[in-house]
Amino acid sequence: MRIIVARHAGFCFGVQRAIDVALEAVKERGRVYCIGPLIHNRQAVEDLARQGLDVAESLEEVPVGAPVMVRTHGAGPELYEETRTRGHPLIDATCPFVLRAHKAAQAYQRDGFQVLVLGDREHPEAQGIVQHTGGEATIVEGPEEVESLKLSPRVALVCQTTQRVERLQALVQALLPRTRELCVANTNCDATAQRQEASAELARRVDVMIVVGGLHSANTSRLAQICSATGTPTHHVETADELRREWVEGAKVVGVSAGASTPDAAIEAVCRKLASFSGPDSEIEWPDRQADRRGDSRSGPSGSARG
Ligand code: SF4
Repeated sequence: MRIIVARHAGFCFGVQRAIDVALEAVKERGRVYCIGPLIHNRQAVEDLARQGLDVAESLEEVPVGAPVMVRTHGAGPELYEETRTRGHPLIDATCPFVLRAHKAAQAYQRDGFQVLVLGDREHPEAQGIVQHTGGEATIVEGPEEVESLKLSPRVALVCQTTQRVERLQALVQALLPRTRELCVANTNCDATAQRQEASAELARRVDVMIVVGGLHSANTSRLAQICSATGTPTHHVETADELRREWVEGAKVVGVSAGASTPDAAIEAVCRKLASFSGPDSEIEWPDRQADRRGDSRSGPSGSARG
């Protein structure tokens, strides 16, 4: 059996960078407290906790003087301010792609635009972008909401990094007839789209697809849906232990994909277990992961991380 790992799978540049920053901080300063889980992957969060990165829901839960880490999604200025006021050292792992969205929203706000953020209302990243405009920007979940918006003649649009570009295009189309001036910052990050495209492409040429990642990770679940939509039998697992031999019985080529929050160790364990089902003749093909981890994408971040 041939086992092929998708061209883009597993940790994106931002998540890998955040984990490197966290582990470095733990080494230098002892226990570090991340506000909210660093990534949506239970095994990875538990592993990081064993290494010294704890999760706190709010600053109230952080012991006096302990270092606080801001995760890849970023946070609003209030959290930075409160962290300083309480005397916690701050470690900022906000992804540079997210910082770019903060900066764009702030710049438009300064220039007098009404700022709209295409994103999920409940998502901390979209909320963080709004907070960087002093709470003035409005989150819009899609073009269907434009009708009910009160719009000024000058509107600027930025987006949460994981939005689909088709949604951004549709929103622009809906806004154009209702504005005199419309500025758009495409602050989308390619990592999500690349994982989706690579998974779909792989799913079309294999007998079975295995998607690895947190069962509660929206991005990983979406990958499983995309693979399944190609017609190839697809299974979403969180760990190698969940794999079942009968899923791959008779398969010559099995594809493996994973969301941006899935550690390499989880992907490798799945590949090894699949290989063990078919014996010594099996081979595993890994892509070159380095471009992913450096953030070499079509729209690489223009700025560097704060802090
Ligand atoms: S998905 Fe993109 S924006 Fe989000 S952490 Fe990864 S690289 Fe950064």
